Amino acid sequence: MKLHFSLSQMTCVNVPVNRLLNKLDNEHLETSSKVNLLNLDQQAMKAFFADMGEKAFRASQLLKWLYQQDIDDIDTMTNLGKALRTRLKETCEIVMPEVVYEQPSKDGTVKWLLRLTDGNCIETVYIPEGDRGTLCVSSQVGCALKCTFCSTAQQGFNRNLEVHEIISQVRVAVRTLGGGVKDGRAITNVVMMGMGEPLLNFDNVVSAMDLMMDDLAFGLSKRRITLSTAGVVPALDRLREVSDVSLAVSLHATNDELRNQIVPINKKYPIHELLASCRRYIADKPHRKVTFEYVMLEGINDSVDEAKELVTLLEGIPSKVNLIPFNPFPGTDYQTSSREVIDRFQETLINAGLVTIRRKTRGEDIDAACGQLVGKVQDRIRRSARFGVIKQVN
Ligand code: SAH
Repeated sequence: MKLHFSLSQMTCVNVPVNRLLNKLDNEHLETSSKVNLLNLDQQAMKAFFADMGEKAFRASQLLKWLYQQDIDDIDTMTNLGKALRTRLKETCEIVMPEVVYEQPSKDGTVKWLLRLTDGNCIETVYIPEGDRGTLCVSSQVGCALKCTFCSTAQQGFNRNLEVHEIISQVRVAVRTLGGGVKDGRAITNVVMMGMGEPLLNFDNVVSAMDLMMDDLAFGLSKRRITLSTAGVVPALDRLREVSDVSLAVSLHATNDELRNQIVPINKKYPIHELLASCRRYIADKPHRKVTFEYVMLEGINDSVDEAKELVTLLEGIPSKVNLIPFNPFPGTDYQTSSREVIDRFQETLINAGLVTIRRKTRGEDIDAACGQLVGKVQDRIRRSARFGVIKQVN
């Protein structure tokens, strides 16, 4: 696959991002009262045109321009007619986040740092593997959950991303990688596994995923979109009613005592409630499985006994297990489990009949691996200060 990088973008690779970000001036941010057309999924777009007294097919035309033709200039959308284009230009805009840098890794992984109009920055990562290209998309600026092994958590939390900020991550990646989104193209899969907890930004994430699946937009199949959650049970139950994307659950522990510590949202929604909700999620979906993510933390959750407990816990749930070697970041006391320990853990699960994949660590040289996405968050809950570590990518 051919990647298109300009020279100026490439030079960013060796520039400490801290310095780059410090140069960004937040005081000149523009606010706009116009409707960003990238904020509207098909339903919202139809309602928008209905409000204007226009026919519903206008929504289809506009979505195709935005996502299939990748056009941002309303004047280019000639089939809308001149009068409608003029009205649209008065009330609407098409605004994307600014690409601060685009950083390719040695293994083909690409990470983008995107600056939002309020000055916050988020990260998006592309991971090619064989005939599959997965885009890892962020859902929030930072994260309000406090998973102890995740560096995004240390950044604190600022706000939910708008629909346009989520779907723009796909547009930005498509522009770099070429070829659009669909089977056989650069991006074949999307995982909501970037910064943030997607189920805590429910409506916007659902709308953005709808656009990813919409044939008028990116047309990805529901199986190729995966939402990953730390386990917000009521929202997961709601998701079942409005969407049927693939589900990944960050389990990481086999008992509540440990999970309460490392995934604190477990205190609110303990393991048995979470697993019951997973069962409900796939109850009427034949052939679907829940992916359980399990980060391998040395001496914490990686014993053979825990592997056996995991087998017992997942009995009766069509599942896949994804073992993730812990990706370290500055300031953390955790270590990743050794290869032998992960092998033994995996073997125990496989021998019990569980499909178990060991996730390769990708994009390590650019801090693009799971839990290493940090962006630049104007922390509103002051967690970064409490941690005493304000880590930036560099
Ligand atoms: N909030 C969502 C999605 C974001 S993280 C969730 O919790 O599922 C995507 C995955 O990476 C999660 O399974 C998360 O637990 C895992 N992860 C976070 N930090 C990690 C780290 N340092 N090393 C390996 N995996 C990590």
